[in-house]
Amino acid sequence: MKNNSQHPKPEDGEKRKLKKPVICYPNETIKIDRWSDYQIARKNLNKIDEIIIPPRDAKCFEVKAGNFFRIESIDGPQVGDLNLFNLGNYDEKFYSGKTRALHGTHLSSKDQMWSSFPYLRPLVTITYDTLDWYGFDQDGGSVHDVIGTRCDPYTKNLLSNDQYHFCCHSNLTRALVKEKKLEQKEAESLVHDVLNVFMCTGFTNDTHQYFMKASPVRPGDYIEFFAELDLLGVLSACPGGDCSAEHSSDTATCYPLKVSVFNSNSNVLKDWESPLISKYNRSHGI
Ligand SMILES: [Zn+2]
Repeated sequence: MKNNSQHPKPEDGEKRKLKKPVICYPNETIKIDRWSDYQIARKNLNKIDEIIIPPRDAKCFEVKAGNFFRIESIDGPQVGDLNLFNLGNYDEKFYSGKTRALHGTHLSSKDQMWSSFPYLRPLVTITYDTLDWYGFDQDGGSVHDVIGTRCDPYTKNLLSNDQYHFCCHSNLTRALVKEKKLEQKEAESLVHDVLNVFMCTGFTNDTHQYFMKASPVRPGDYIEFFAELDLLGVLSACPGGDCSAEHSSDTATCYPLKVSVFNSNSNVLKDWESPLISKYNRSHGI
């Protein structure tokens, strides 16, 4: 809702606006039982795979349940758009909106990325984030958001009439077609709202519009995840580069991103098991 109201404020309007906000989804009951074990395990990592994501492109990677992966800035500040799926069932995929409702607009250490209905379980737990110092800045901005969707050629065309083929939506689709041998239509329908890795975003104070600003990420920075299930990840190196000026074009300077996959030499998690799907009985009152 913008400042284009057609109605005068009612007499008690100000009073109605002074009601106290209530957190929609208090999340204190979500416990990460093995958090301290994750922290022990992550100190003894052994790299087993490495994938370089070229600028303005995307690649797939797989991570076994119980292993870790990192997304790292290498050559220069660069934003990434991440999709996650249950490796054995692509119907179970990252649910950005519910993750936002549970953890807030931006993610960091100890937050989890939740899967779609009817599964609703953590796909990953974020175990380390070198940008956790950033917090929120004076503009209300922060990093690793779940408020943007992913840059895409439909919105680009809506706003400027262009045909641009290297938005994150297209990059993610192309990676699924090329690497997973999916039909284009099926691949595109699997692409979902992302975790905007390293992207610095917020809502403006006046109109509450989605904004971006130069990512604070620097080479060597990384965000690290513990895989709660066997995962398929797809990561796009956004055409917006550090997203300091514009995206959905070839204008910005772009850099590659690195995904590293690790197992742990520690046996502290040897009795650990993947989380179960939601216990809701799915009867829906029918
Ligand atoms: Zn993008």
